[in-house]
Amino acid sequence: MANKKKSAKKAIASESAATRSAEEQASLQERRAKSRSVIRTLKKLFPVAECALHHESAFQLLVATILSAQCTDERVNMATPELFRRYPDALALKNSSQADVEKIVHPLGFFRAKAKNIRAMAAKLVDEFDGEIPLNIDQLTTLAGVGRKTASVVLGTWFGIPSGVVVDTHVRRISNLLGLTASQNPEIIERNLMEILPQKEWIEYSHRIIYHGRKTCVARRPNCTNCGLLKYCDRVGLEPL
Ligand code: SF4
Repeated sequence: MANKKKSAKKAIASESAATRSAEEQASLQERRAKSRSVIRTLKKLFPVAECALHHESAFQLLVATILSAQCTDERVNMATPELFRRYPDALALKNSSQADVEKIVHPLGFFRAKAKNIRAMAAKLVDEFDGEIPLNIDQLTTLAGVGRKTASVVLGTWFGIPSGVVVDTHVRRISNLLGLTASQNPEIIERNLMEILPQKEWIEYSHRIIYHGRKTCVARRPNCTNCGLLKYCDRVGLEPL
């Protein structure tokens, strides 16, 4: 009798595990299908998807991206012309003075840490990588101030190497509203998005979502009634229209 009960319990447990994984599988397929519709629409809305940070080389993009932490791209674009005029490459920045770089990046906030990071990054690039940007995310993230997000921006935008999905505040917020992820943790969101977006779209998805977040799906006042993504969007957490 006891054995019968045990095997019945086992059968129920394995059936519910199978059901759960089937449900998860269905949800993954649904999110994949939805992400393709979202991408198609975003491409129509924003045919050109470019990084908003001004740069003329991979090195300059790396510097600008480090500087953009906790700061708007517009502000970074105001400071970088002077910075790049004085320090156009890794060797020049390595040989800079901390005080001079601090003065230039002062308006961007966290100016001491940012100046220190970009100078240390430039020194390591010169000393260990012949002044060239490494094309490998593990090597790139050994540089001062360079996390996965910054490395993905540079590898994807300049070199066309999709190494991850850049999750900034717009990508986090809008991917949740759309129902493509249910997490607020950037690492989990990136994993969720990498699972459902085609790899070749990883870079441009983020660029286009950022445009969309600035133009239509603005934080706290998303313009849903005029949004091209409305029919695919779960509008998670928003009042019904
Ligand atoms: S429908 Fe609304 S919430 Fe959804 S993406 Fe568009 S503006 Fe954002």
